[in-house]
Amino acid sequence: MNKVTKAAVLVSAIALLASPLAAKKIKWKLAMTWPSTLTPLASPPARVAEYVKAMSDGEFVIKAEGKEKHKAPLGILDMVKGGQYQMGHSGSYYWKGKDINTVWFTSMPLGMTPSEQYSWFYYGNGMKYMKEVYDKFGIYNYPGGNTGNQMGGWFRKEIKTVEDLKGLKMRIPGLAGEVFAKLGVSVTNIPAGELYTSLDRGTIDALEWVGPGMDIKMGFHKVAPYYYTGWHEPASEMQFMVNKKAFDKLPKKYQTMLEVAMKAASFDMYVENFSASLEAWDKMKTDFPNIKVKTFPKPVIGAMKAAAAEVYEAYATKDPKFKEIYTDYKAYMKKARAWSQMMQGGYLNLDK
Ligand code: CA
Repeated sequence: MNKVTKAAVLVSAIALLASPLAAKKIKWKLAMTWPSTLTPLASPPARVAEYVKAMSDGEFVIKAEGKEKHKAPLGILDMVKGGQYQMGHSGSYYWKGKDINTVWFTSMPLGMTPSEQYSWFYYGNGMKYMKEVYDKFGIYNYPGGNTGNQMGGWFRKEIKTVEDLKGLKMRIPGLAGEVFAKLGVSVTNIPAGELYTSLDRGTIDALEWVGPGMDIKMGFHKVAPYYYTGWHEPASEMQFMVNKKAFDKLPKKYQTMLEVAMKAASFDMYVENFSASLEAWDKMKTDFPNIKVKTFPKPVIGAMKAAAAEVYEAYATKDPKFKEIYTDYKAYMKKARAWSQMMQGGYLNLDK
């Protein structure tokens, strides 16, 4: 080896040692709202960790922790904001009390379907608003997996008129609960572990959960025969939260790995839940032929639409940002729905 070659080898060896990637493994922690076994909700964090580890040859590692570990299912935003965890996985609408505008990034009652909403997120103004709303928390927010259109819930009695909703005791959270409360429903919140017994004993008359894939494990179909099609959570999107400072410090290629992994894992949850639901429904309807699938009658839907508009208008009057996003969302949904009806509606009607 001559002098020049020796020097070149030395320089590249020093460069390698000085490289931050060679110097140190990156170890992150993620806290999720769900128990780590609750699929499909717990699937996206596990997949992100797996993808990132593989793509970085084991140099970027994310450890996902379920609520059984951190014991703070509704403290995720604060823990990511404070930097105890670099990442979180949760549902944006849980932060309604901190900022009403977080509700736009989960699902709106009588709002957009998953394809319409994804289109708004990525090709409309959805991601722009997401950034604006989460900026003040020092967090980057990303879509984190969709449940698809949720079922309207399990009812012990049939709902034939708007009158039948009056005095009905139901577990239905979020803005949908506010809409139903306007129609006389007595809205309650009961922990997940007590829902089955409450419905069985008649402490509540109805409840909504997700859809067949997740509902079947809860057993509601054994105690309430009427299964209503959805209106209240047409496209519930989970969320990934990333601490801004932690993200900004990552080498660019790891930032890209993380963003690609989050997008892939989110899409996968949507498909996982779709598949789990079609299998669960097939089994449920065979094992329990008495389940009656119903759609709320037109006048009831009409009343829901009017009540939802009142709820939205009231927030828009109080909060200029809500008004701005509401205006954009409504205009986008109008165009999107015309296309969905023509394309998807037309095709699905071929089987009617
Ligand atoms: Ca739900």
